[in-house]
Amino acid sequence: MLDYQAILEDIHNTLKSTEDTGDVASYIPELAKVSKDSFGIHLQLITGEDYSAGDYLEKFSIQSISKVFSLAKAFQLVGNSLLERVDVEPSGNPFNHLSLLELENGIPRNPLINAGAIVIADILLTHLENPKEDFLNFVRELAHDESIDYNETIAESEHETGFNNYAAANLLKSFGNLHNEVEDVLDFYFHQCSIMMSCRQLTNAFFVFTNKGKCLKNVEHLTASQVKRINAIMLTCGFYDEAGEFAFEVGLPGKSGVGGGIVALLPHCFTIATWSPALNPQGNSYLGMKALELFTSKTKLSIF
Ligand code: GLN
Repeated sequence: MLDYQAILEDIHNTLKSTEDTGDVASYIPELAKVSKDSFGIHLQLITGEDYSAGDYLEKFSIQSISKVFSLAKAFQLVGNSLLERVDVEPSGNPFNHLSLLELENGIPRNPLINAGAIVIADILLTHLENPKEDFLNFVRELAHDESIDYNETIAESEHETGFNNYAAANLLKSFGNLHNEVEDVLDFYFHQCSIMMSCRQLTNAFFVFTNKGKCLKNVEHLTASQVKRINAIMLTCGFYDEAGEFAFEVGLPGKSGVGGGIVALLPHCFTIATWSPALNPQGNSYLGMKALELFTSKTKLSIF
């Protein structure tokens, strides 16, 4: 039996003495205020035991990790028909890249790049009665945690500087792939990205993807086939132009956010979340990637 607690503490100690060459995201001004020194890691086994180190209870802005929740909700609401409006191929480009979108007639490469997530947000806006409230309740339900909430200051901060996402949304609209108003879709999108969660809350919520669609309380939210597809999209697209590198070094499906969080999982086995705010040039947490690489190397647990 592996001593998971000792492994996490060992990783934490190794990272403390590793120079963090990353930088916190500054294109969303509120995110630049977070201290670069925080680090948290939380591991939850499918059997329920959990292990942790560092700032694993501190909440941070989940940013693009929210795209997995919105994709899951959209699958729940409209099933495979969402694939008519967004593809499932890796983009090999940064998360906010636009030229492929124009070349490919307004069909985003996948739901985890910004343009794809904006299409998914549009689907949710069409199908949810009270979109922001219903989406938040979905995330709370998955995590079994009513304390999870939006961060209005971060949402407003991104609204003020979100020119690139306005460009993506306008391009989608011009191709007929955005059914609601640009302003309404982006208001929803900026809010979903602003959700604050800790590493522990993220592993609780992502349990559903480790456990074939059933959440911590054994309620079925997604079919096994939908979960298979979501995990495949995370593996191939979850880290943008670094998805290959993450599969190569870590070997797990996962998703990152520019708030510095990463969640990854081994189906039917464990869910793990890390938080370290400084990002590498691809916009993924520099030390978070290292922590997960150390974890799968030390435990020899990966999908490969
Ligand atoms: N809200 C961010 C954006 O749209 C999310 C990006 C990310 O986390 N990679 O730019």
